[in-house]
Amino acid sequence: MAKYIGPVCKLCRREGEKLFLKGERCYTPQCAFERRSFAPGQHGKTSGRGSATRTGRESDYARQLRAKQRARRIYGVMERQFRRYYEMSLSRRGLTGLNLLQTLESRLDNVIYRLGFASSRAQARLLVTHGHFLVNGRRTDVPSMLLKQGDVVTVREGSRKLSYFKQLPELAAKRTFPAWLTRDLKNLSGVVERMPERSEIDGNLNEQLIVEYYSR
Ligand code: SF4
Repeated sequence: MAKYIGPVCKLCRREGEKLFLKGERCYTPQCAFERRSFAPGQHGKTSGRGSATRTGRESDYARQLRAKQRARRIYGVMERQFRRYYEMSLSRRGLTGLNLLQTLESRLDNVIYRLGFASSRAQARLLVTHGHFLVNGRRTDVPSMLLKQGDVVTVREGSRKLSYFKQLPELAAKRTFPAWLTRDLKNLSGVVERMPERSEIDGNLNEQLIVEYYSR
């Protein structure tokens, strides 16, 4: 399972906006973007995000590329897998862009993050790979597992005595969760009630530009 292991805050600076990849830190003055909101690299300060043409206008390709990269970085997905999600979305009925966003939202690491059981998708991914979660009663260590309507996510019995999970009900209670999920903090579990609607998917995502990027 490949994952990005480079400096995370650089990704926000590259995209020119906060992507909230580091959990609680993103809301503090330690956030790198608060201190240096220009693109990384030698010319970052002077050339904006580096994707404009010489006339200063961003090309269609640059806008499509940035939209795709931003979504990929928000969900922590590598290019090959992202393209696979796009192809899956294309072959499904309905709007390809919405299908793609719903596929990304249905990843196990994202569902755990959305339930408030982790402060970021990266932390959710780590918790899953350490085997702390069950899906429909079966242990899994695959963060990219795609969940469907009715799937139940629970914290493994043996993991509940760890200090992180002991504090989790209190921590998670402060975090909101979307209407397409239900959660039970007492039992540290959550259910996918349905797939999210477009209005329930936050983040600066432009699925139309992503579809245009892949259909070039
Ligand atoms: Fe982005 Fe969070 Fe790093 Fe700030 S702290 S630059 S929001 S990942």
